[in-house]
Amino acid sequence: MTTPATPSCDRTGCTAGAVVHWSRRPTAEELAATPAEQQTSDMRRLVHACGPHAIGLDLAAHVHSSTCAGPNAGTLPQCGCTPEPLTPTQLPTLATLTTGWQITP
Ligand SMILES: [Zn+2]
Ligand SMILES: [Zn+2]
Repeated sequence: MTTPATPSCDRTGCTAGAVVHWSRRPTAEELAATPAEQQTSDMRRLVHACGPHAIGLDLAAHVHSSTCAGPNAGTLPQCGCTPEPLTPTQLPTLATLTTGWQITP
């Protein structure tokens, strides 16, 4: 068993340990490097940041564009891109019984 390496901040030149992360769309190069059978319409890449380079919590809830420059010290706590709008949280499908109980099928 191996211990996974602690991700470090993705800010260029920063070697601090990451404390937060958010996701962005893969770039064309990353997409090209991904086997076709692993490509989906909802592919995301994790972006890591240390505390001082973290974007705002509200922004981190969004999926960012493939060209997102964050963490970008010049734009913090913004990231410089226009993130995708939030989609409603996916709730598990509930089945309603005739008695009114809702169960997860
Ligand atoms: Zn950093
Ligand atoms: Zn962004």
